[in-house]
Amino acid sequence: MMARAAALPISVAPARPSAASPSCPRPSAVCAAAAAAAAPVPADAAVPSALGAVPLAAPGKTTLAFVGIGIMGHAMAANLLKAGYDVVVWNRSPERCQPLVDAGARLAATPADAARTASIVFGMLADPPAALAVATGPEGVAAGMSPGKGYVDASTVDAATSAAVAAAVRAAGGLFLEAPVSGSKGPAEQGQLVFLTAGDAALFAASAPALEVMGKASLYLGGAADGAVGAGAAMKLVVNQIMGTTMAALAEGLALASACGLAQGDVLRVASLGAVACPMFALKGPAMAERRYAPAAFPLKHQLKDLRLSLEQGAALGLGGAGGGGQGVAEAALAAFARAEELGRGDDDFSAVLEAVLLHQQGAE
Ligand code: NAP
Repeated sequence: MMARAAALPISVAPARPSAASPSCPRPSAVCAAAAAAAAPVPADAAVPSALGAVPLAAPGKTTLAFVGIGIMGHAMAANLLKAGYDVVVWNRSPERCQPLVDAGARLAATPADAARTASIVFGMLADPPAALAVATGPEGVAAGMSPGKGYVDASTVDAATSAAVAAAVRAAGGLFLEAPVSGSKGPAEQGQLVFLTAGDAALFAASAPALEVMGKASLYLGGAADGAVGAGAAMKLVVNQIMGTTMAALAEGLALASACGLAQGDVLRVASLGAVACPMFALKGPAMAERRYAPAAFPLKHQLKDLRLSLEQGAALGLGGAGGGGQGVAEAALAAFARAEELGRGDDDFSAVLEAVLLHQQGAE
């Protein structure tokens, strides 16, 4: 499958590894490294790399590990199991691994043990501190890394965190790929995520069959030649800044509609018929109209984290702040999500920002 966007040179995986060194047309270009024209490679082939070959992932042959069995990690690891991979799992709270163990996964005692057992480890951790702890801690993923292994971190983190994890993994001889995802719980369950990757192109190629099981597309955004990380993290934060501000705008619109005496369902219907029609409104709107936010698909605390990280990313680049500055809309959304967390909504779905907006509009804070 290949798809091409109009403006950017976007190639969408599934990638197939090539013996040739992958290259992108320019460092910032989006490309599926080694994917485009390569012929299928035998399942037991190894993908060449300066640091050591990582075997191409193949169901029935490859042991994969998954660390971070939360909402997303559970669904993603379950799909790897269903596809026939031997899967080792680890989670800080081990009880969350039990359904996967019941389905055939093996439980690792530590992230390092998971990495020692598997050739490719996938991670899906809450935030930068969690991603760092699990990757670089004393019994972290890096402690179990060696040449011929790789770590694919799908957590949403900032570029600096990703670089620190990459350094630790590479110092141990492993390959590293940052691979945050676009898509929530539903797409994770359906194997319809979009991976936004950068890092070691050889690992992108070696892990492609597994990424294909978990997602509908994998984009390699990095500079393949130097294995730089950060472009995947940056892209994910850009997308989630747009998502957070859009959700806050929907919440304000619904709250305004309430104040006007308009039915929420009518507002959603009118929006769906016009230029502001949006899949997220269709997905979240009906539950918001009933003020139902649990169980969370995307916890509000993670959207708050993503807005913080994206604003820091913009500030580091010299973009302005609130009051009409370069990131004023996102700063206002951040304030709304922060108020919602103060109201105890952190573990609810991020659509619960509506509660903070309603309170704010009533001047009840
Ligand atoms: P979640 O259900 O809250 O899971 C978070 C995971 O991180 C759990 O496995 C948790 O372990 C672990 N964790 C947290 N702090 C830790 C620490 N200090 N040390 C070790 N492990 C720690 O979140 P999620 O929704 O799966 O999201 C995971 C990541 O994917 C986040 O970066 C999020 O922003 C991103 N993401 C989420 C969605 C979505 O719709 N949910 C979509 C795209 C991206 P415990 O079980 O022990 O707490």
